[in-house]
Amino acid sequence: MISIENVSKWYGQTQVLHDCSTKVAAGEVVVVCGPSGSGKSTLVKCINALERIQQGRIVIGDDVIPAPASRLSAIRARVGMVFQHFELFPHMTVLQNLMFAQMKVLRRGEEDAQARARGYLERVGLSSFAAKYPGQLSGGQQQRVAIARALCMDPSCMLFDEPTSALDPEMVNEVLEVMIELAGEGMTMMCVTHEMGFASKVADRVIFMDEGRIVDDCTREQFFGTTAQCSERAQRFLSKII
Ligand code: ATP
Ligand code: MG
Repeated sequence: MISIENVSKWYGQTQVLHDCSTKVAAGEVVVVCGPSGSGKSTLVKCINALERIQQGRIVIGDDVIPAPASRLSAIRARVGMVFQHFELFPHMTVLQNLMFAQMKVLRRGEEDAQARARGYLERVGLSSFAAKYPGQLSGGQQQRVAIARALCMDPSCMLFDEPTSALDPEMVNEVLEVMIELAGEGMTMMCVTHEMGFASKVADRVIFMDEGRIVDDCTREQFFGTTAQCSERAQRFLSKII
């Protein structure tokens, strides 16, 4: 489904990804964790072609990144992305937020777009918020809208970049529940998160990054097992955040 092959990336002179390789199979949930500045956000942005890679390649379904400019919007549409800050359009209602890219990028008609938008709003439990503006919603609600908006595009996989880290603690669970449900439905997911409860429940694999490198890429059992089989660096990191 997603194959990251020997990817390196530089910002100017600074190398921020070093020869990263991993695969996410269809239906698999992979959690990415690691210290601040280790390259987690950069890696997921490269998968969505929001950032350019200078070496290696990323295969997503039939597409290969680096891709010709003409394919970029199609790739971004097929790879759903949810960020830490919800990035909803503040001047549009919730419903308009969900319809906009469907009509603009996928060229869906208004009725079709609206029907899907309402369907996904219901799935994230926010049917009654369709006419509200993002500023009138709590952080957790906004993040659920952001997830629904990504789902409206019929993504083949979903990327999450710390979707709960900007939320008040009592709102974290409502967002994680939506993600757990998605995982249960077989969505292919790559999630940057430090929610280790979530990881230990739904992650098929856990990747630990440090200084732009994938240091550990192991199964949930290997990562969380009583005789943890991950690197010492990852164990030290885990002991700080759990
Ligand atoms: P955090 O946990 O704080 O979100 P992260 O693991 O997501 O960290 P990245 O944001 O991917 O880390 O950053 C990796 C490295 O790339 C860091 O050293 C960062 O300073 C650098 N970096 C990120 N974005 C840019 C940019 N637009 N220009 C230059 N350097 C950048
Ligand atoms: Mg980040």
